[in-house]
Amino acid sequence: MLELQGIAVSPGVAIGKVLILDREGYRITRTQIDSADRHKESQRLLAAIEDAAARLSQQTRESSKAAGKHVQAIFSAHQQLLLDPMLRNEWLRLVEEQCVSAEYAVSSVLNRYAQAFRRMGSPMMSERAADVRDIERELLESLGGTPLQVTGGAEQSVLLSHDLTPRETVNLDREKIVGFCTEVGGVSSHTAIVARGMEIPAVVGVGDFLHRIEGDADIIVDGFSGRIILAPDEATLKSYREGILARVSRAEKLTGLRDLPAETTDGTRIQLLANIEFPAEVAGCLERGAEGVGLYRTEFLYLGAKDEPQEEEQFQAYKHVVCAMAGRPVIMRTLDLGADKAGGIAPADPENNPFLGLRSIRLSLRQPRVFRTQLRAMLRAAEYGPLKIMFPMITTMHELRTARMLLRQVMDDLREEGHSVPTQISVGMMVEVPAAVLMLEHFLPEVDFISIGTNDLIQYTMAVDRGNEHVADLYAGHDPAVLRLLKLAIDTANRFDTDVSVCGEMSSTPTTALMLIGLGIRVLSAPPPALLQVKQAIRSISIEDTQKLAARALEFETAREVDAFLQQRFAELVPEMSVGA
Ligand code: PEP
Ligand code: MG
Repeated sequence: MLELQGIAVSPGVAIGKVLILDREGYRITRTQIDSADRHKESQRLLAAIEDAAARLSQQTRESSKAAGKHVQAIFSAHQQLLLDPMLRNEWLRLVEEQCVSAEYAVSSVLNRYAQAFRRMGSPMMSERAADVRDIERELLESLGGTPLQVTGGAEQSVLLSHDLTPRETVNLDREKIVGFCTEVGGVSSHTAIVARGMEIPAVVGVGDFLHRIEGDADIIVDGFSGRIILAPDEATLKSYREGILARVSRAEKLTGLRDLPAETTDGTRIQLLANIEFPAEVAGCLERGAEGVGLYRTEFLYLGAKDEPQEEEQFQAYKHVVCAMAGRPVIMRTLDLGADKAGGIAPADPENNPFLGLRSIRLSLRQPRVFRTQLRAMLRAAEYGPLKIMFPMITTMHELRTARMLLRQVMDDLREEGHSVPTQISVGMMVEVPAAVLMLEHFLPEVDFISIGTNDLIQYTMAVDRGNEHVADLYAGHDPAVLRLLKLAIDTANRFDTDVSVCGEMSSTPTTALMLIGLGIRVLSAPPPALLQVKQAIRSISIEDTQKLAARALEFETAREVDAFLQQRFAELVPEMSVGA
């Protein structure tokens, strides 16, 4: 039994067989194609070979300038391998005779070769195996760069990997992959958020551990404590299985709160909204009594797709969400791509500091065609219910004004084309950059509402990459600097009588949610699985107690002190929830 500690990012416990996804370990699902499409699939494969060969030949030329002859030799060897007629025939035969996708044909043949080279044992042959893997990656990229479907074997598996991008996470095969664990990553990374959205237990930031794992052992991923246990003994397995059952029964009890209002003991009403990433999540929102969607991260439509989603596809997705929420408000955030949510329209060239780079609204404003398409789809969906539009990561007045101007133009275009667009559409901005907090009184007259994105606000206030496990200790929502900025933002919005909510992950922890209410927040938006717990906490406390909690929290000098104080006070105020809250 081997026990390791990481960062718990998505609650729940997963028990399954180890499935390692290292750089060499993508498993491509066997995908059958229609036999009538065989010829088309072969042509696609041949075009991909040509495309990859052209890319490699360019790399060969460039590398000889930049890195010298030996690197050039490697690329040129790759190119030869790629154009090897024997390989090509094997791939084509698989497609033609077995009617499998080009991706599967490429991957399965090359996998066989790589394994064979590796089994020969010599370092030189291992290098050949790595070359084969590189060819595979090149070809898969040329085949459309489709996000690779990571799938398990026959049994339920827990995926272990160095890292997992949000795109890869979206594409996990949920039938087979019951949880995951990565060597790197932090609590508010987008991968972590996707994991919570998908309700898949996850632990990240464990550090180097993949090399210590062998065979196909069982593994437990504890998304509550951040522990992973490899090859657990019978007693541990039993206690975890019992824990799962106990949690299911607690969750069933919480369900009784679904239709009760989220109000404090003195009758102050709090609005509880849900954060979603995928249209399919609306069912979970309604099951947990969400009063609306406070944050729809629409960029996940891009991350999960092979090609850029067109207006009609987006319109259908947005319309589905608005209709399913049946008259409840839906706040749709415009694209927040870039940084860790790469793909689609995100910059192709690597940036030195992607989180400080061309991401979010900056990217949308640079790509007006893409931005307009999204705005058109949203405005068309607004005909079906109370849809509000929110711009992410606004840092300057200029950005807000440009975004609003584009929105107005798109509205005019749609009207000219005969679409019926609501005359009034509520437009808001996210406050997730300290500059926006400091300038808030200038922004407020130009928006209908704001939503505080604490995930990024913490990152940009503390100068700490939200996905980097090496500085995860500095990423603290309870840091006094963050609390002061939150207070400033909330006070300013309340002074201007502008609706203000918090939609960052801070809303989802009952203790922190109570403190936010004490700071003056009356609308919280959290992932659906957190809603009932937060409601339970709200219904157990008076508004006066939340205010005292917030006032005292603001007096400390360190995040640790704030943490300790909040835990202790929470246990006193809401004793029935203090364990695991
Ligand atoms: C935030 O930054 O708090 C937020 C809600 O946006 P995201 O997590 O998608 O960056
Ligand atoms: Mg954000």
